[in-house]
Amino acid sequence: MIYLKTDEEIELLRQSNLLVSETLAEVAKFIKPGITTLELDHIAYEYILSKGAVPAFLNYGGFPNTLCISVNDQVVHGIPSNYALKNGDIVSVDCGVKMNGFFGDSAYTFPVGDVNPEVLKLLKATKESLYEGIRFAVEGKRVGDVGHAVQYYCETRGFSVVREMVGHGVGRSLHEKPEVPNYGRQGWGTKLKSGMVIAIEPMINMGKKELILESDGWTTRTTDGMMSAHYEHSVAIRKGKADVLSTFKYIEDVLGTNAI
Ligand code: MG
Ligand code: MG
Repeated sequence: MIYLKTDEEIELLRQSNLLVSETLAEVAKFIKPGITTLELDHIAYEYILSKGAVPAFLNYGGFPNTLCISVNDQVVHGIPSNYALKNGDIVSVDCGVKMNGFFGDSAYTFPVGDVNPEVLKLLKATKESLYEGIRFAVEGKRVGDVGHAVQYYCETRGFSVVREMVGHGVGRSLHEKPEVPNYGRQGWGTKLKSGMVIAIEPMINMGKKELILESDGWTTRTTDGMMSAHYEHSVAIRKGKADVLSTFKYIEDVLGTNAI
């Protein structure tokens, strides 16, 4: 079943999501060649606890850390490790928190140092496709309209859309109904209603769409070894215009002129 949130619940979801956005901005300050992904994870862990919230991914289904950190050809659900970021890498950081009973969920892919301009195009298109999807996250549209918008935007630019993992409802649980694929047919799927809150999260590959799951049971990686990007916002469905509960503003203030 799909839970419709009251206005009060949406405000609590906004607070949780803004904390995720602040946490990603805190992590953004430290993203540079040489830092390990485990060090980034620790920064997020301490920051979330200092705000009286709980890291949502830690121990979720047995996941061992606060952040999912996925580098280069890793798609999502990467486990923080002693890997030190290198000049030219891209790094997807996905963060979730629970605060006042409600979850926040957002993700951003960062360039590390000087990144190949073709790869920067992938990051830009993936982020823009998220906002394309958000345009259709309004009352009366359907989940297929959101997915189609993301898919059309990315495929017409030569990129491919991951099928195995999808966006989702978010609320008192991290993952609620409905599923929100990043592909679809216009006019198909669950009808969106005011009060629904969904996480839209395009996972877009530079090469082929196929993935493999690594032996750690979590990390997904492109089969062709080409780069993959991931951006995510949690949004409340409203009439006419979606209410985006997370924000990239704090991150982009940190990145300054290096923002995509
Ligand atoms: Mg996420
Ligand atoms: Mg999510």
